Amino acid sequence: NRRIVLASRPSGAPTPSNFRLECVPVPKMGAGQVLLRTLWLSLDPYMRGRMSAAPSYALPVAVGDVMVGGTVARVEQSGLEGFSPGDIVLSYDGWQDYALSDGSGLTILPAGMSHPSRALGVLGMPGFTAWYGLLKIGAPIAGETVVVAAASGPVGAVVGQLAKLHGATVVGVAGGAEKCRRVREELGFDTCLDHRAPDFAAQLAAACPKGIDVYFESVGGKVFDVVLPLLNTFARVPVCGLIAHYNDGLYDNKDAVQASDRLPAFMGQILIRRLRVQGFIIMDHYSELYAEFLHDMQPLVEDGRIRVFEDVVDGLENAPQAFIGMLEGKNQGKLLVKVSS
Ligand code: NDP
Repeated sequence: NRRIVLASRPSGAPTPSNFRLECVPVPKMGAGQVLLRTLWLSLDPYMRGRMSAAPSYALPVAVGDVMVGGTVARVEQSGLEGFSPGDIVLSYDGWQDYALSDGSGLTILPAGMSHPSRALGVLGMPGFTAWYGLLKIGAPIAGETVVVAAASGPVGAVVGQLAKLHGATVVGVAGGAEKCRRVREELGFDTCLDHRAPDFAAQLAAACPKGIDVYFESVGGKVFDVVLPLLNTFARVPVCGLIAHYNDGLYDNKDAVQASDRLPAFMGQILIRRLRVQGFIIMDHYSELYAEFLHDMQPLVEDGRIRVFEDVVDGLENAPQAFIGMLEGKNQGKLLVKVSS
């Protein structure tokens, strides 16, 4: 039974030394429990926050504990009514081969589901995040301009495709020519711009001649600086994530973020242009809205109106490097680790 634990807390970008691979005995199942074998592990940007001790909306992972993460797993043994060996479940077992569960938080996936890994992506937490943030906060109407940060990732890809289905003009922002090509040609955004281009600001202004009505924020940093002057009066900004800051001070080194106080200028723009800037954490909305999301999204995925890209890394031992790469933008689509089959 292999597991990856948090060996030390990162300062800045995580490195392989912040993780440790351990081999421990497979846990023994007791009464009222199931033994789960991990098939798929989801790697997500929020895990960077859990590596830090700074206060946040969720508790940090303790040093020496298994890294947290959403998983799709197979029931190997069951001492729990309602679960049978062979059931495939959505679980939250973290970066390890085997885990015990008392059933809380487990969802049995439909037998014979063709792509169970999608329960961690387009039909799971990232897809739900995109759906909620865009439709419940951004609320685009036909003819409006929607700009989507981190457009090629699992959240951004769904945001942009949903916005197109709602009749918006959709401009993606992604890192590098290949990601931008894919977002345009394979996901059907109207255009996609490389945030690393030296003339990115001019390109974005040209791509949004009527200004920006919805900016789906996942990044912060330079992308937001370029977006802010283009926001229309009454624009909506669902604040989903700030990945550009996850390594540069949001969690560990407050001085870096506070180096220049741009807050008054930002607040001034919120007021003058009556912007609606709303943060959200998707965990808050599962009980009320996850069923509605699935009801909306499943048919769109099944008939191909929402396209899905997964970036699959083989082997639990490769999770740390893949996670580090994701924070640098190396993933092409939803990043998943195939732990076993
Ligand atoms: P992605 O697969 O899109 O991975 C993150 C991407 O962010 C990278 O691939 C990279 O893409 C981009 N990125 C990284 N650093 C920078 C930077 N400095 N400037 C611009 N772009 C950068 O992740 P997800 O789709 O899973 O998540 C997207 C966002 O949504 C994250 O911020 C995440 O924290 C947030 N989130 C929030 C939730 C909530 O409840 N509020 C729930 C789920 C996700 P590129 O190469 O294109 O730059």
